[in-house]
Amino acid sequence: MEYLKRTWCEIHLDHLYYNIKQLQETAQKKLMGIVKADAYGHGDVYTAKVLQQAGIDFFGVSNVNEALNLRQAGIQGEILVLGYTPVEMVQTLISNQITQTVHCTEYAKLLNLQISGSQTLKVHLKIDTGMNRIGFVQNQTADSTDEILALKALQALTICGIFTHFPCADSFDLQDAAFTQQQITYFNQLIERLNANHLYFEVIHTQNSAGIINYANSVCNYARAGIAMYGLNPSSDIKIDLKLKPVLSLKTVVTMVKQVPQGVDIGYGRTYHTSRPMKIATLPIGYADGYYRSFSNRADILLHGTRCKVVGRVCMDQLMIDVTHLEQVQLGDIATVIGMDGKECITADELAQLADTIHYEVVCSISKRVPRVYYQHGIEIGFLDHS
Ligand SMILES: *Cc1c(COP(=O)(O)O)cnc(C)c1O
Repeated sequence: MEYLKRTWCEIHLDHLYYNIKQLQETAQKKLMGIVKADAYGHGDVYTAKVLQQAGIDFFGVSNVNEALNLRQAGIQGEILVLGYTPVEMVQTLISNQITQTVHCTEYAKLLNLQISGSQTLKVHLKIDTGMNRIGFVQNQTADSTDEILALKALQALTICGIFTHFPCADSFDLQDAAFTQQQITYFNQLIERLNANHLYFEVIHTQNSAGIINYANSVCNYARAGIAMYGLNPSSDIKIDLKLKPVLSLKTVVTMVKQVPQGVDIGYGRTYHTSRPMKIATLPIGYADGYYRSFSNRADILLHGTRCKVVGRVCMDQLMIDVTHLEQVQLGDIATVIGMDGKECITADELAQLADTIHYEVVCSISKRVPRVYYQHGIEIGFLDHS
C-alpha cells in the first residue's frame, strides 16, 4: 500500500521526542501529553507511542472518543478527558479506565447517580481561577473549599487530581503576568485549604506549554504539554528559547505548469489579473485540505527552495502559484506548504498571521483527507491515509 502522494503531511517523530525531552528538563516534573484533536493534527496514536518512549504515562484528550481511540490502539497509562462527557457514557469511561474532569457539583452528582454497584470513576477537579470557562470558582471573592469537600460524599467518584488552566501564560504584558501569578496564588491557596481538611491529590497540574516555559509552580507534580511538544512556541513571548523543532510539514506536488499572457485573470472571482506574461503552476491543495481560502493572493509556497506567491483564490481542492522566476518547474515537483525547503522556511506561525489566527488552528485544520506520513531517524516508518 502506498499513501496518496497528492498533498500530504510529513511527521518527524524524532523532533517530537526531542521537544518532549526539552520540555521535561524545563518543567522539572512529569508531563501529561496533550493529544486532543488527533494530537493537534499530527496523529494521536503515533504521537502517544513516542510520548510513551519518552517516559510519558499520562495523556490528555478533549472527549471520550479520543480516549477510546487511544485505548483501542493499545495505549496504556492514564487518560484524562479534559472536557465534558455525557453522563450516559460513564460506563464507557469506567470500563476503559478513563479519568473524567469534573467541573461543577451538579455534574459530579449526575455522574455519581449513573454509577452502579461498587464501581468507581476516577476524576480530576477543574478549578476556574479566572478563565471563566469551566470549573469550581476560586478567586478573591469565591472559595470552593466547602463545595469540593462535600464531593467526598459521592461514593462512586474517586478524586485523584485537581487542576486549573492559564488563559494568558503566553503573554509578557505586565497585567497578564500579574493575572497568571494571581491564578497560581488562588489555586495554591485552595490546595492548602483542602489539604488542611485532609483532602489530598495524587496529581496536581496547572501549566500548559506557555506555563511550563514562563512560570513555575512547585505545588504541581504534573504539567500539561501541548503545542510545544509539536515544536511550536506557544507565542513569541517566551522566557527560554527551547529551540523546539517543528514536527509537521505539509507538502504537495505540481500538477500543471503553463505560460499565461499579460492581461488574463486567474481563478474564481477573477481576483488576480496578470500585468505581464507569467508562468503559473497549479497545486492540488485547497481549503478542503485545510489550506485557508483567506491565503488567496497572500501566502507563499516553497518550490525549488524559493518562495512563490499564491495567485488568485484558493479553490476547494487546488490553487495556483506564480513560478515566473523559476527556470525548471515540472509536473510532479514537490512543493512545501509548511516546512523547510533548502534555506527557506514557511512556518505554521507565518500562515497563522496571514489568516489572523494562531498556529494551533493552522495545524488542527489540516483535514483528514491529507495523509500523514511518519519518519523516524529519516526513514519512513508508516502512514495514515483516510482519503
Ligand atoms: C489544550 C490544553 C492544554 C495544552 O495547551 P498548549 O498551549 O497546547 O500547551 C493544556 N490544558 C488544557 C486544559 C487544554 O485544554
